[in-house]
Amino acid sequence: MTIGIHRPTQLIIDQSAIYHNIATEKSRLKPGVELFQVVKADGYGHGLVQVAKIAEKAGVTGFCVAILDEALTLREAGFNLPILVLGITEPQYADLMASHHISATVGSIDWLEEASRYLIEEHRLAIHLALDTGMGRIGFQHPEELRQAVQYLDQKPQFNFEGIFTHFSKADAADTAYFQHQIDRWKAFMAVLPYRPKYVHVSNSATSLWHDACNGNMIRYGVAAYGLNPSGTELTVPFPLQPAMSLKTKMVFVKKLLKGYSVSYGATYTAQEDEWVATLPIGYADGYERRLQGFHVLVNGEFCEIIGRVCMDQLMIRLPRQFPVGTVVTVVGEDHGKTISLQDVADYCGTIHYEIACGFTQRLKRTYIN
Ligand SMILES: *Cc1c(COP(=O)(O)O)cnc(C)c1O
Repeated sequence: MTIGIHRPTQLIIDQSAIYHNIATEKSRLKPGVELFQVVKADGYGHGLVQVAKIAEKAGVTGFCVAILDEALTLREAGFNLPILVLGITEPQYADLMASHHISATVGSIDWLEEASRYLIEEHRLAIHLALDTGMGRIGFQHPEELRQAVQYLDQKPQFNFEGIFTHFSKADAADTAYFQHQIDRWKAFMAVLPYRPKYVHVSNSATSLWHDACNGNMIRYGVAAYGLNPSGTELTVPFPLQPAMSLKTKMVFVKKLLKGYSVSYGATYTAQEDEWVATLPIGYADGYERRLQGFHVLVNGEFCEIIGRVCMDQLMIRLPRQFPVGTVVTVVGEDHGKTISLQDVADYCGTIHYEIACGFTQRLKRTYIN
């Protein structure tokens, strides 16, 4: 997608915030516990390679991504740290992974058998076995399957049994009953494991922030690095996270809308009196959702309502008074002591901040500060 570099709309990424959010969590970890930074989905919309650079400076010892292509992008950019692909990669790419020293997530012996046919002789593929303790997404279902998989790996020098892990579905909730249930299932799996591989990991951000993590020696730290509370507003983070992403634009058109005149598609908004209206160059094609009609932005520390439908590339706001074209508008972030957080945007859309952050499209220019 073409990046809008000649448009005054940009995502601003505060690099020092990401650094702080990683370094602080790292300092809280028990000795010997490593932090792999999760940079999937273009670093949750913050920029894959840029976030990886900051994370490396902050002392992470590996990366997690969702898909093989993200791992390959990191390798092409010159990163040499371990990389784990958290999703299932098709077995035909086993050799491509091995040749780039990218670790694969595996949830069945079938996958291993299939992959073994693609691995050329001198290549060895590092494997992390995924255990399904209750997430119900990917991974071995029963301890007996795990026992057989380890036995299989022990016989096949093409594979390096590098890690074992699980993923919690409710580590971000005050009610810990289901989390405990998953812990119990984890323990049943671990009971059949003949030895511990190099990495044993169960923690996403939420687990690392709020739970004692099953004796693991690595965490998969994701959303909290970007300054976002994994629980939304349910639980308090043990240290102040610094949000890294803000979104700014400028007014490109300002007019007086006369009483009785309407705004945008469907004419869903009609001025009840004469009022000042500004047009902003951002719309749902940028990932600023159409559902945000009626929400607000910040102009000089004042909340201004989004009036009429959000268009693909533009939207309109009602101003308290006349402002000149070119006035800066804060769509997400802080302005004169007032804030619109990604959480606020997500609440209005009926979703979570994860979806808003990674939903911003590539048309938005990313600018890195600090
Ligand atoms: C995305 C993901 C993470 C990171 O989760 P956060 O909530 O962003 O910390 C960790 N582990 C797995 C398996 C994931 O898919």
